[in-house]
Amino acid sequence: MLNRLIYALIVFAMLLSIPNLSLNFFEKKMNLITAAEIHETEKENNLHDIKIVETPEREEPNLIKVFNNKTNEVMVIDFEEYIKGVVASEMPGEFNIEALKAQSVTARTYLLYRMKKYAHGHPEHSDAPICTGIHCQVWSSKDEIIKSKGEEWYEAYWGKIEEAVNSTRGQILTYEGKIIEPLYHSTSGGRTENSEDVFSVAVPYLRSVESPYEEEAPKLYDSVKVSVGQFIEKIKSQYGHVDLTENNLDEKIQLGEVSEGGKIKTVIIDGKEVSGREIRSLFNLNSTNFSFIQTGNEIEILTTGYGHGVGMSQWGAEGMANKGYNYEEILKHYYTDVEIVSMK
Ligand SMILES: [Zn+2]
Repeated sequence: MLNRLIYALIVFAMLLSIPNLSLNFFEKKMNLITAAEIHETEKENNLHDIKIVETPEREEPNLIKVFNNKTNEVMVIDFEEYIKGVVASEMPGEFNIEALKAQSVTARTYLLYRMKKYAHGHPEHSDAPICTGIHCQVWSSKDEIIKSKGEEWYEAYWGKIEEAVNSTRGQILTYEGKIIEPLYHSTSGGRTENSEDVFSVAVPYLRSVESPYEEEAPKLYDSVKVSVGQFIEKIKSQYGHVDLTENNLDEKIQLGEVSEGGKIKTVIIDGKEVSGREIRSLFNLNSTNFSFIQTGNEIEILTTGYGHGVGMSQWGAEGMANKGYNYEEILKHYYTDVEIVSMK
């Protein structure tokens, strides 16, 4: 397994060097990022005061307040039951049990992080520290899950999700004794991102690491096609006058900066520096790892990976689990220098 990992690393290092060779940028790969925000790490976040009972508004130690975006109400629900509803919503039940356990620990840690940081409510949902939408982490009730995934899915996979959550009960991730903010995403495209390359804040446990086993990820490679006219129009509508024509795109659109994770930080369009994130948003791309291919009157924008690329790659976790790594190894791989500890 070690040999395979080393081999994968070498291959990946070779792949990484490609963007810097600067073929024609307009025909080559670039990367981009999503919309999650990184919050400053908390100074007072000591493991020893991670007790859930310290969080205000808790009527019982095992109950938490969650703002339900679907009903616009604050729910008071069981802590570990909440984790099950997150794992079932954020990761396919078909995944390897070790990947599901890793997701259970990240879901629990994320909840705790938010409870500490937003003990008096989040600005966007002032009566609860966390919500059920993608703004925080997605949660669905058991009934909603059965409704959306079906009885058969429920029979086949709910028990496995319960097992993943129950077998890691109370386990969370810390860095130097503090609860971490365990960001995660679908598919890194081969290497995760340094937090500062995506969200501007350098977080010591959110470092760029290789993610070599994502072959099964459905959105590892994808593309968006637009006509040259639409392409130019979109860019002009966003950035004002730029001298772009059907015939000069490969000269006017150049690769700027590439992150350590291999994603596009900046693109130079007719001399103007534009962030990869903006291009991702403008063309609704899966990631900031993108490149352009112009064929006649059409431009295909190729993307690698899905999501912001910071922290754990869920498809990478699945790939590692299928290679025989356990959830602790997966978590310690994607979150640099963290510990897995039990909540008090
Ligand atoms: Zn929220």
